[in-house]
Amino acid sequence: MMEQDIQEILFSQAALERRVKELAGELRRDYAHKAPLVVGILRGSFVFMADLVRHLDFPLTLDFMAASSYHGAQSSGKVNIQLDLHDDIAGRDVLLVEDILDTGNTLSKLVAELRSRNPASLKLCVLLDKPDRRTQPIQADYVGFTIPDAFVVGYGLDYEQQYRNLPYIGVLKPSVYQG
Ligand code: 5GP
Repeated sequence: MMEQDIQEILFSQAALERRVKELAGELRRDYAHKAPLVVGILRGSFVFMADLVRHLDFPLTLDFMAASSYHGAQSSGKVNIQLDLHDDIAGRDVLLVEDILDTGNTLSKLVAELRSRNPASLKLCVLLDKPDRRTQPIQADYVGFTIPDAFVVGYGLDYEQQYRNLPYIGVLKPSVYQG
């Protein structure tokens, strides 16, 4: 069973629910009259995004993107967009939703690409932030939890595409990747 691979639960289902609700409160204050475009970054954000938007009670539209950095690319390298937005974002208030901000490599490039499309505003909402790991000058505007440098899974986050369906966020036992 998946549970046997988890060393420690960092955020229970109840804790996640509480914090997501609080974040939604912040977003309601900032976006209630803006009809934003909420953009989920696949695949890790899908659970967070689904919970978050159900606590937003104002008009908004949704879209998704998938991106990766080119392997071995310099930080100046372009982001590889595997799935792009359906519509032009010029003049729109765009809120990017991501599972975790780690080194910031992928997100900083994605943000630069989206800024070049001239949105009215572009903000970043992440469930988890690992500031100790950052190599790029990027910060999130909304953060669920700040965590230390540990590899976490669940609530959308994977290890080799598994564990995304765990309802909580936990630290994976090292024996799982040491195999
Ligand atoms: P960055 O470009 O910020 O280094 O990488 C962000 C991506 O790396 C996240 O979207 C996520 O896919 C992956 N990632 C970084 N840290 C973790 C972690 O602790 N657990 C999991 N499952 N993925 C992580």
